[in-house]
Amino acid sequence: MAIYPKATVSLLPENDLQPPIVPTQVIFHTAVDHPGPSDLPAWFARPDVTVESHFWVSNHGDITQMMDTEVRADANLAANIRAISIETEDDGDPEGNPWTIPQLQEMAELGVWLALEHDIPAQLIETHDGPGFGWHSMFGFTDPYNLIGPIPNPWTPSLGKTCPGSTRIRQFVDVLLPAIQKGLSTPDLSELDKAKATHQRLRRSIDNKNSKIRALQASRRILQQQATKYQRIREIVEEQ
Ligand SMILES: [Zn+2]
Repeated sequence: MAIYPKATVSLLPENDLQPPIVPTQVIFHTAVDHPGPSDLPAWFARPDVTVESHFWVSNHGDITQMMDTEVRADANLAANIRAISIETEDDGDPEGNPWTIPQLQEMAELGVWLALEHDIPAQLIETHDGPGFGWHSMFGFTDPYNLIGPIPNPWTPSLGKTCPGSTRIRQFVDVLLPAIQKGLSTPDLSELDKAKATHQRLRRSIDNKNSKIRALQASRRILQQQATKYQRIREIVEEQ
């Protein structure tokens, strides 16, 4: 049982009917919903709708969890047995409406939680069944960044499906995945305190060494002065 603590939980009937999974992939989608506020969870709950997603992220960044992330959701065909799916609001125009800042912020935070909760590497998925983060159409085009050259995609029955569209794919690559990676690498406060203590200890030992070096240099200078004086006295004695 895995429920995102920040989500509004509205579990679908399928949550009790579908088999468990061990998730290794996170796949982002765009909903192509109606303009204005949309209630995707209500649509997925309709008896005639047989597909569903784990999460729904509105334009305001509100997250609804509809399926336990350890239960199969049917949004990615062959990847359903291993993928967590995230649907996002776009008001029917994913190319004209990039993910909003609140959507990006909340999805980055959700991505960090998913990576930690399920031990999913924060990397781009490299093969259709490999671990990581990706987008729905990434294996459906010979050029998946620009959606050129449709090829059969194991994650959807429809050839040429562009979800989530080139605008959001660009945001995934440039902003979202790097934000998830950054979120995972930022040390928490206790780590920061430990780092500061180590730094201070190092600083003190360097200061210590420096003062020893300065003392050594000073005594060497005195020795040299004495040697010079001795030399001069010897010269005077020899002259006489
Ligand atoms: Zn999709």
